[in-house]
Amino acid sequence: MEIIVIGPWGGYPKVNEASAGYLLVHEGFHVLIDCGSGVLSKLQNIVEPEVLNAAVISHYHPDHNADIGVLQHARLIKGFLGQTMDCLPIYAHPFNQHEFSKLTYKNITKGVSYQDDDVLEIGPFVVRFLRTSHPVECFAIRFEAGGKAVVYTADTAFKEELITFSNHADLLLCECNFYGHQDGSKAGHMTSLQAGKLAKEANVKQLVLTHLPHYGRLEQLQEEASTMYQGPIKLARFGLNIKL
Ligand code: ZN
Repeated sequence: MEIIVIGPWGGYPKVNEASAGYLLVHEGFHVLIDCGSGVLSKLQNIVEPEVLNAAVISHYHPDHNADIGVLQHARLIKGFLGQTMDCLPIYAHPFNQHEFSKLTYKNITKGVSYQDDDVLEIGPFVVRFLRTSHPVECFAIRFEAGGKAVVYTADTAFKEELITFSNHADLLLCECNFYGHQDGSKAGHMTSLQAGKLAKEANVKQLVLTHLPHYGRLEQLQEEASTMYQGPIKLARFGLNIKL
């Protein structure tokens, strides 16, 4: 299994970069996890849009779903230009029907709903979901394949259920939108210390901090998380490629 960071930024993309987007690959099957602002542009440095086999969206905030429309256009236009591809399933929750309905577009993409406690097979992946603590409905997502597990927290304040959900993951892709001295709970986000605590208590093998803030010294997030968790910690950045 391989995971490649497309966009590490929370809220909005930095100049020439992207907000939330991650490419997960196993046995030639390509899943795009979240499709925030800037993702379609950055993704094309790694793979063409027609290569995707599925997409999974955690929630309907623009830093996680803004580029769905242009992904649909890209696949439509590539089809006109002679590329053949299947209709792309976009997995997302149905608790905002207006947003969910936009995931189905001609025969180009099709919205497929997931809910709490679903266990889905998406290509070679077994996929589970956990509702997070965020101002809108949002789900953390656990992918398992080939004996490895990746957990993506999506956007969330710290909650105990994340520990069991992330248990023994080979990689925890954890949101870290706030520094250790701050309180992200009202905004529905975690601090570096909480990301480290989650990694430690879930006994994960490695931690990647993502959904990064636009201020401060980012290495401080890593330093703070390391006071809670002794395993390897990386900061997400475009192109960071982790093989499991
Ligand atoms: Zn959000």
